[in-house]
Amino acid sequence: MLGTMQHWPLLCSKVIDHAATQHPHRKIVSRSCEGPIHETNYGELRGRALKVAQRLVRDGIGLGDRCATLAWNTWRHLEVWYGLLGIGAVYHTVNPRLFPDQIVWIVNDAEDRVLFVDLTFVPLVEALIARMPAIEKVVVLTDAAHMPATTIPNAVAYEDWIAEVDGDFHWLEFDENTAAGMCYTSGTTGNPKGVIYSHRSNVLHAWMAATPDMMGLGAADVVMPVVPMFHANCWSLAFTAPLTGAGLVMPGPKLDGASIHELTERFGVTFSAAVPTVWLMLLQHLEGTGSKLGTLRRVVIGGSACPRAITEKFLKNYGVEVRHAWGMTEMSPLGSICTPKPETRPADDEAWLDLQVKQGVPPFGVEMKITDDENRPLPHDGKAFGRLKVRGPAVAASYFHGVGMEHFDSEQWFDTGDVATIDPHGYMQITDRAKDVIKSGGEWISSIDLENLAVGHPDVAEAAVIGVAHPKWDERPLLIIVPKKDREPTREAILDFMAGKIAKWWMPDDVVVVPEIPHTATGKIQKTALRDRFRDYRLP
Ligand code: ADP
Repeated sequence: MLGTMQHWPLLCSKVIDHAATQHPHRKIVSRSCEGPIHETNYGELRGRALKVAQRLVRDGIGLGDRCATLAWNTWRHLEVWYGLLGIGAVYHTVNPRLFPDQIVWIVNDAEDRVLFVDLTFVPLVEALIARMPAIEKVVVLTDAAHMPATTIPNAVAYEDWIAEVDGDFHWLEFDENTAAGMCYTSGTTGNPKGVIYSHRSNVLHAWMAATPDMMGLGAADVVMPVVPMFHANCWSLAFTAPLTGAGLVMPGPKLDGASIHELTERFGVTFSAAVPTVWLMLLQHLEGTGSKLGTLRRVVIGGSACPRAITEKFLKNYGVEVRHAWGMTEMSPLGSICTPKPETRPADDEAWLDLQVKQGVPPFGVEMKITDDENRPLPHDGKAFGRLKVRGPAVAASYFHGVGMEHFDSEQWFDTGDVATIDPHGYMQITDRAKDVIKSGGEWISSIDLENLAVGHPDVAEAAVIGVAHPKWDERPLLIIVPKKDREPTREAILDFMAGKIAKWWMPDDVVVVPEIPHTATGKIQKTALRDRFRDYRLP
């Protein structure tokens, strides 16, 4: 027997329709690439997204066609997403920080037909366009007044392009499992792999992410997604904010501490989300200028492990609650967020900080387990660590073109490539990426734990730990640090600071001070580059 309820396809257009109906005047503020601050609202944004949709149809774009964006977080980028979504075409966010060859590779792999590009990236596209033969048109996200002279064939200014239609258009209807968006994983091993979100997975995921113990958003919030729209589906915020009626502040091209702080204060941001590096820049700015945070009450930090020192500063110096999150491009991306349950409610600030070192608990819609290499389940005792596997309606079941099927098993469990523990209350803690864990004498050492500890030293700005070959132990940890400005920490001072806080055999064999640590296109420490550089390093 079937239920008697309506079949209401979970389409992303319903999200913007809801925002435009219930919260039409809620502000969307952006720092434009041209410079000035721009203001619009959900009502207007929907109207202009309809024009994008209508204009795309006139260009012959339709169901299943991929269109790339090389763009910062602005209102125009949002309009493009919703315009594409409204006709069943696919937004393909390309990370402009990737190497040019990788950009060419993924645009060609996706066979993108239209490319939407911010002014910032016009020179990049000029250099690459000849190698991307499937692109029929390049739409520069600006108006006629700011349109640069360019060598890109078939380039048009966005405002001119949508001005050619009147917006008298209706969203198209199709199956909720239709492709909605596309994002490639960074591909630290082999070529990048395309993850294809569906309308259904995006809507369900935004619902999951909005709930109180996850991001906990509502119409009174002003959300600033510092996490770029090109990083892992914008961590759902392009959908969660309109779904809940929260206002948006889009930071555009400026992600430095001063610019982020200015927007936060000027537009009353209550909630934000980004990787730890961004928050380090903000905290350094606040410390350097003696500034405060007026309205910000919560930040979600993820993408890599959030050091305790960051959470502590936010809490104690600025009264801001950090929620540590873990996720992956393949998971839309939310996998877990650290929030208390009644039985784990922290008694004081220190207990809260201890809890926040963990990556937390999954929302409804994500199942997780840990297994050994033979796929045998490991106990949830907070001690045993193994391969972290997940499944759920917003988790990938495969990659584009069917590559990488070895990451999925017959019961849909996706092997994340992360190593983790799960405690008796269900809290997951990442120990390492499987390929970053240091294997010393047959035992594993967590590089993340050592890094978190090292950045707690007052003279250390950033830390990375890699395994270096060792004749007796196979591998031993090498700690690489970037000092804070005008500080000169010594090897001995750092090792003294760490001693007693970890098992003796986890202590790094050596400490190297460097001016800079390389980062990946999504702001993570590039361990592969460090391993190459220190391959022949001789430990004392
Ligand atoms: P990219 O590497 O391109 O940013 P993803 O965003 O999909 O791609 O990266 C997902 C990976 O990032 C996870 O598998 C995990 O290793 C790491 N990660 C994400 N959040 C955290 C976190 N809070 N703590 C530790 N590692 C994290």
